[in-house]
Amino acid sequence: MLRSAGSVFMQKVTKILLCYVKILLLFAGSGANLLHSTQFLHTAKVIALEDLNHSVKRVRLRLQSEDNFSFAPGQFIFIKVPHGYVTKWNKRYSTNHSTIVRPYSIASAPHQLPYLDLIIGHQRNPPGKTVPPGLASTYIHTTLKVGDMLTFSSPHGNLMTIHDNDAETRSDPLILVAGGTGLAPFLSVLSHYFQTNQQRQIYLYLGVKSIRDLLLDETLSRWASTHEYFRYIPTLSKPAEGKSWRGRIGYVNTILDQDFNPPLIADVALAGSPIMIRETIRVLQEKGLPRHRIHYDEVPHSTATLP
Ligand SMILES: Cc1cc2nc3c(=O)[nH]c(=O)nc-3n(C[C@H](O)[C@H](O)[C@H](O)COP(=O)(O)OP(=O)(O)OC[C@H]3O[C@@H](n4cnc5c(N)ncnc54)[C@H](O)[C@@H]3O)c2cc1C
Repeated sequence: MLRSAGSVFMQKVTKILLCYVKILLLFAGSGANLLHSTQFLHTAKVIALEDLNHSVKRVRLRLQSEDNFSFAPGQFIFIKVPHGYVTKWNKRYSTNHSTIVRPYSIASAPHQLPYLDLIIGHQRNPPGKTVPPGLASTYIHTTLKVGDMLTFSSPHGNLMTIHDNDAETRSDPLILVAGGTGLAPFLSVLSHYFQTNQQRQIYLYLGVKSIRDLLLDETLSRWASTHEYFRYIPTLSKPAEGKSWRGRIGYVNTILDQDFNPPLIADVALAGSPIMIRETIRVLQEKGLPRHRIHYDEVPHSTATLP
């Protein structure tokens, strides 16, 4: 009896280890060093789902156990899509995915634990392409419901941790540049700054396409009117004709170009599409900002699109 219980236990351990090794191999094959040691040991219950606009949801989670979970503002976690969902997806779209994990920034501050917010945009298929929509974001938008559990990794990323600890530069302005759901890590940063009463001058540039794509506009405007050191600058790249918009118009990199003269002395953190990040870095460097004062998290493309 004892022996068979032991062997069942060993079978389970072997199964878990094989799963883990499989994930390691996938990541090793794709050159994604970041994930080599990632395990998916954390679970949280979905306690609320809220539409922030036509294609972005806020997912509010409650950690099952917070003993070994802590994070710095601006960090992200890797979420694992349930195996059963991936199997159905493979049948529906004739794909051959195995383990699906995706990085998502934590959109709440550490003091809000055991609650944790994520802000997730639904990734549709590119116009004119007959390919499946985004797997993880379709799961979150169409299947995940209140009461479900999510499995995820410990936090990663250095978006804010390096420059924030540097006493010499801490008094320089901090410029946060977000494209769409790239706002998520900065919500964490801002909530943390306000809660700890830090008085660094902060500018938040949020770039979206049109008014309907804005995220948490009222909250951010309210923060700007109640926190002396915080400025919020939303900008639309393609405001719909006929809609009244009295704010800025243009891509964030163009707006930054207009707003700051060289030499720019600041820390700048970026989150959004690779094109937005690339173009903004170009503008910042033209303003004389040294590369080491520009911060963003890079996750190898292959990790975001694991088979
Ligand atoms: C550090 C970091 C933090 C992030 N934080 C957030 C966050 O807070 N919020 C957020 O919303 N996102 C965030 N992301 C992006 C997120 O990780 C995912 O990349 C995003 O949600 C899309 O994942 P998906 O599984 O839905 O799409 P995927 O399945 O990866 O698909 C991506 C796109 O490819 C298309 N596609 C599918 N199959 C094919 C094919 N055969 N050929 C061509 N195209 C195809 C899909 O239609 C879709 O448009 C972050 C990314 C990084 C790197």
